[in-house]
Amino acid sequence: MRYSQFFLPTVKEIPSDAETISHQLMIRGGMIRKLTSGIYSYLPLGWRVVRKVEQIVREEMDRAGALEVFLPMVQPAELWQESGRWSLYGKELLRFKDRHDRDCCLGPTHEEVITDLVRSEIKTYRQLPRNLYQIQTKFRDEVRPRFGVMRCREFSMKDAYSFDVDNEGADVSYQKMFAAYQRIFSRCGLLFRAVEADTGSIGGRFSHEFMVMADTGEDGVVYCDTCSYAANLEKAEIARPEDRDPLPDNVPPCEEVHTPNVRTIEEVSAFLHVEPKDVVKTIIFNADGVPVAVLIRGDEEINEIKVRNYLGCDELELADDEMIMAATGAPRGFAGALGIKARIIADYSLIGMRGVVMGANREGYHVKNVCLGRDICALSFADLRAVRTGDVCPHCRGSLTFARGIEVGHVFKLGLKYSKAMKAVYLDNNGKEQYMVMGCYGIGVTRTVAAAIEQNHDDEGMIWPVPIAPFQVIITPVNMKEERLAQAAEKLYQELQGENLDVLLDDRDERAGVKFKDADLIGIPYRVTIGPKKLDEGQIEVKNRRTGEVAAVDLEKAAVWLVEKIKGEEDSLTPLLD
Ligand code: ATP
Ligand code: MG
Repeated sequence: MRYSQFFLPTVKEIPSDAETISHQLMIRGGMIRKLTSGIYSYLPLGWRVVRKVEQIVREEMDRAGALEVFLPMVQPAELWQESGRWSLYGKELLRFKDRHDRDCCLGPTHEEVITDLVRSEIKTYRQLPRNLYQIQTKFRDEVRPRFGVMRCREFSMKDAYSFDVDNEGADVSYQKMFAAYQRIFSRCGLLFRAVEADTGSIGGRFSHEFMVMADTGEDGVVYCDTCSYAANLEKAEIARPEDRDPLPDNVPPCEEVHTPNVRTIEEVSAFLHVEPKDVVKTIIFNADGVPVAVLIRGDEEINEIKVRNYLGCDELELADDEMIMAATGAPRGFAGALGIKARIIADYSLIGMRGVVMGANREGYHVKNVCLGRDICALSFADLRAVRTGDVCPHCRGSLTFARGIEVGHVFKLGLKYSKAMKAVYLDNNGKEQYMVMGCYGIGVTRTVAAAIEQNHDDEGMIWPVPIAPFQVIITPVNMKEERLAQAAEKLYQELQGENLDVLLDDRDERAGVKFKDADLIGIPYRVTIGPKKLDEGQIEVKNRRTGEVAAVDLEKAAVWLVEKIKGEEDSLTPLLD
């Protein structure tokens, strides 16, 4: 491609509405333009990167045995009513009526459509397993679209759906997708982690998110410094602590103390001269209409997702004043576990806690000297709190650490959720009807592009990993008016194209400084500079965008040299096949 004929409107100023680096650079580098909130047009440079990511995704999905389809974006309400999601999916689902007054929506995901297709076409176990995928535009009317194409309303997703005869088969399909995702993100040249993710109502351990590691990521990732354990912050588990010694008998009995106008943990600990960790918070939840008291140390935070999963309830919310009054006999702010009319669960960190303070279920009073296990017996312990740095790994007792990441992919074992709701069945070898066991697997293609920039940039601009770079090489003759420089550039341009490399020839009549700045901004991995001095010696200079290293290479050998470098980088990122 010749720069003079390309459509690459770069911008010097940082756009005022772009908070993140990737958003800023995608605008400045002429990759995208905003049409309206959360909706973007891709310009040629941006689209080239999207196409490269798509290509890698396609190759690996095909290799894993998935078959490409293309499903409609406009979907009828009936299917969503069948799955139950028409009422459950919130405002993110863009609904509208067609001219016949029929309810429709724009697909935010395609479980309904694919399940409908498969249930009509697949009849027997002989036609299973199947994995179908597509790369397509999704629409989610996000409440707060932000960070450019990272969290937008219209975006491109690769979504795959597997159908198996049984659980074991579904596990195999899941593992195949997991392995394919590892290859995909490795081949894209990204640093990533597969982390355990919450499976919500479906349960089990079968959900992983693929996170591109970046300090600017929206997601918290917890990982072990010793073993390979990694999980989304929402889901990260903490090892059960060792049991404590039997209770010593020297803790005096519980004693109610008057604590006027003292409510928060800080106020209680200051008033009674104890540490916040020796005050127990009692938080009452409404779990599917039933009160549950969750006990946690004053210096810890509850993780509601853990509470919900432990209870196995559908809906969990903080109890209202009425429920608190009924359970404790006191207004909000004085709840404690002694004598409470609710099921009690306590975080692991409270195992063997003694001599602690908690609410007295009486306005203006707290109780001290409480010993769990002595004074409160009907309770169970579970992992209910948010992880903190240094917590103990549930697998190897190593130490847990935090990082931030961007969710670019998600693999999920769905089980029978959709096949039951939508009656997707097959006949087994006894002629008996069975539900298909499903899995779903998404990759945010356009988000991956933004994540790659978030992870690979410097003050000058983007730094593309070779496999997804819009161009691998940019040739910059320092002065187009000097005939021999232009000729040498043209010659190399032809040679590299002959080698099937993606090359941009900066044939603009611009100052070298301007060209260099643009090349850095758009992040082309190799910049060839053709200048008079070196050319006198029959040489050109090649600058590596990432390392800044400059190599003088003979013009005659330049094409071969570049091909070797670029293929070498691609190969080093491609995992060997098993
Ligand atoms: P998030 O938690 O970030 O909202 P999600 O869990 O709802 O995402 P999935 O339903 O798992 O997303 O979708 C699969 C993939 O699609 C995600 O891993 C992500 O890469 C991408 N994706 C989801 N929502 C958006 C969005 N609003 N903009 C761009 N990409 C998105
Ligand atoms: Mg997800």
